[in-house]
Parts: sequence; C-alpha cells; structure tokens
Amino acid sequence: VSIGIAIWDPTYLAPEDLLRDADTAMYRAKAQGRDMTAVFDEAMRRHAIETLELENDLRRGVARREFRPYYQPIITADGLRIAGFEALVRWHHPDRGLLPPARFIRVAEELGLIIAIDRHVAEEACQQLRAWKAAYRRHEKLSMAVNISSSQFVQPDLVPQMDLILRQSGIYGSALKVEVTESVLMENAQHAEDMLEQLRKLDIGISIDDFGTGYSSLAYLRRFEIDTLKIDYSFVSRMLFDQESAEIVRTIVHLARNLGKESVAEGVETRSQFEALQRMGVDLIQGYYVSPPIPADGAQELL
Ligand code: C2E
Ligand code: CA
Ligand code: CA
Repeated sequence: VSIGIAIWDPTYLAPEDLLRDADTAMYRAKAQGRDMTAVFDEAMRRHAIETLELENDLRRGVARREFRPYYQPIITADGLRIAGFEALVRWHHPDRGLLPPARFIRVAEELGLIIAIDRHVAEEACQQLRAWKAAYRRHEKLSMAVNISSSQFVQPDLVPQMDLILRQSGIYGSALKVEVTESVLMENAQHAEDMLEQLRKLDIGISIDDFGTGYSSLAYLRRFEIDTLKIDYSFVSRMLFDQESAEIVRTIVHLARNLGKESVAEGVETRSQFEALQRMGVDLIQGYYVSPPIPADGAQELL
C-alpha cells in the first residue's frame, strides 16, 4: 500500500484541498517505489502549481497555435547539398519567449497534448517543404523529417492523419520521414510492425532516432523496415577523444551501409568531427557545425 499524508494548514479552504494534497503525496510515494509513505510538503506544492500553470499555458498554446517548427538542415557528407531538414518544435510563449522542447515536452506527453502539437508541426513543416520545392527547382529531392512521440505512435489514426497531411500539403510520402526511437518501437513491437507497414504504403520513410542508446537488440532491424539510422549525439561528441565511441560510430555506419540503410550523424559540432565522419563514410551530417535549428526564413536563405 502507498500512503500520502497531508497535514491541515490554515490556507486550506475546503476539505478537497486536503484531499488533493494527500493525493499528490500519494503519487510521490508510488513514484518512490511501492509500500511507502510520503508527506506533502512545500516543494510538492510548488511542483504541483508549476505543473498546473504549465498545463493551462499548454492548452492555451495549442489552441492559439503557439507551437511552431524550427528547421535544422541535414547535408550530404560531401558538403555539397542540403538533403533535407528536421523540424524541431519551439514554443513561442507570449510571456516567456521562445522555449525549447526540454521545457515542455514531458508535461505535454503526460497530458496527451503532444499529439496535437506534433500534428501541427508536421502540417506546417510539410506545407513549408512544398513551398520550398516549388520555389527552388534544384531542391526537388529535399525531404522533411518530423519527430513522433510514443503517445502519437500508438494513436490508431496516426496513418490516416499523415495521409491527410500529405494530401493537404501536396507532397509525396517519399519526401517525408518520421523519426522514432528504438524504445518506441520495442514498447509495443506488434503494433509498431503494423504501423510501419502502413506508413510504408504511403511511401513515408522511417528513421531510428538516437540509434544505439535505446535498445540492445539488433533483431528489430530485420523485423522492421527502416530506412535511416541516426547516430546519437553522445557517440559523435566523444568520437575524437574516445576510441570506443569512434568504433561505435564506425560500426553503425558499416551496419547501415551493409543493410542498405542510410546513416546520419547527429550533433556534429566541429570541422574535425565532420572530416572524421566523411572518412568513415557516413551518408549525411546534421549539427551546429552546419547550422542550429533556425526559423523558416533562415532555412530559406540557406537553400
Ligand atoms: P532529437 O530528435 O534527438 O533532436 C536533436 C536535438 O539536438 C535538438 O534539440 C537539436 O537542436 C539538438 N542539436 C542539433 N545539433 C546539435 C549539435 O551540434 N550539438 C548539440 N549539443 N545539440 C544539437 P531540441 O530541438 O531541443 O529537441 C530536443 C528533443 O525534443 C528532440 O531530440 C526530440 O526528441 C524532441 N522534439 C523536438 N521537436 C519535437 C516535435 O515536434 N515532436 C516531438 N514529439 N518531439 C520533438
Ligand atoms: Ca529527431
Ligand atoms: Ca536524436
């Protein structure tokens, strides 16, 4: 049994206040492992208020479309061409300015609001891609990658939604990639298999995000049809001074090539990293060395 304890204090106006705080403490007790007790305290109150405020803000933000994508270019390893962009959400908060995903994604997932946010980001990114393709004929092969959260991935209407977004924006499925992590696939492998198969029917590409950090079985590479492996930042950032990280990067590049998949190195920050990755034969490069995620007009200038 998990027990949450709240002690009456004069700020409580109604019995429900006391119950609410005991409930919050009970969740804390559960989170600490079962068979525990927790006493409601000031820190829990602050956390609860912050979460509540964030929740209200998030709901308003979704309604007012305050969530917009920034775009980070992904270039070919020869450095000659922009292969595509990854859309990364930013929150244009009316009071707090521009907020990165780390400040709101976790709560948005807990509240189920991430689904609406991701849908909106995908919509806007696809429309943007369509506009760029129309404006620049030599960029006709440009692609757009969007991130899919685990809660969106289990939505039964993910595929119809993607289909609609493709039709509304008028781009081919082959120009769109969805990025999922290994753990999202493995949490519900049977469902994932069906989902990927349906996405494949729309010709949408599948990338494994943060490859090498989530799940230790390689069997899923055979089971699922995957196009791209994105080598995690943690390996790339250490590869020049840590032999093991360098070997892991090299091995992922080979693995991708031998399985007929594309490799992308994430988080490339320096010229030396870029050159080392070129020598290893990685296909595509993404990172601050090329450009951070930027608003649409900046991305257009790059094109
Ligand atoms: P991610 O998908 O792994 O995205 C890469 C993150 O690394 C981005 O952080 C990007 O700004 C950052 N990054 C890019 N190049 C470099 C570099 O050279 N050095 C370093 N240190 N960092 C670099 P960001 O934009 O803050 O996004 C964080 C995470 O939030 C993303 O990780 C992704 O998991 C999630 N996310 C972002 N946008 C969305 C979205 O629209 N929907 C969902 N569901 N998740 C999103
Ligand atoms: Ca990603
Ligand atoms: Ca990543």
